Amino acid sequence: MRNVPKAPKTAVSPDQILAPIQLCSICNEIIGEPRADGLAENASMLPCSHIFGDLCISRWLEIDSVHQDCPVCRRTMIYRECGHMIRPCDVAHAPGCVEEEDMPKKCFACRGGGLVEEVLVLMNEKRMAEEMILLGMRKCVSGFFGEVCGTTIESVDERVEEVRRRWKNAAHAFCSELEKKEGRDQW
Ligand SMILES: [Zn+2]
Ligand SMILES: [Zn+2]
Ligand SMILES: [Zn+2]
Repeated sequence: MRNVPKAPKTAVSPDQILAPIQLCSICNEIIGEPRADGLAENASMLPCSHIFGDLCISRWLEIDSVHQDCPVCRRTMIYRECGHMIRPCDVAHAPGCVEEEDMPKKCFACRGGGLVEEVLVLMNEKRMAEEMILLGMRKCVSGFFGEVCGTTIESVDERVEEVRRRWKNAAHAFCSELEKKEGRDQW
């Protein structure tokens, strides 16, 4: 054994060779390592097989975002029939590359049918009820009360917006929670 030549020492461990450094092409930082803001990203994949940091790609695709496509290949990340966003998957669980024509036409929640729709309708009704209360405040408060509550009235629009945002997030959270529970990590 004494004469067996030793493997050359390198500064790189086998793990590092197997997992090449991956840059998030949106923020240009190494995925998995703390960025300038102290947050480390996980690798997230889109059905076109492009990989990004999860924080960046989620923000990029956000419902209100002007970008609803892959930042690299520009493939649209919207389900054709229901118009909902195609969410990025954790690389470890992602089903791999799916061609555009092989993609399901509806998102998981819309494929889920009855129950999901009922809950979303209920959420929407609650949201509208909250909006009505806020808008009602503006109508009732005039004259003396109008002066007293001036600032309140000005903020009504903001609060309506806030209510909308909150319920939209709630609906979104509900759908992704459901996907997780079903063990479905797919497009
Ligand atoms: Zn990033
Ligand atoms: Zn792509
Ligand atoms: Zn949908």
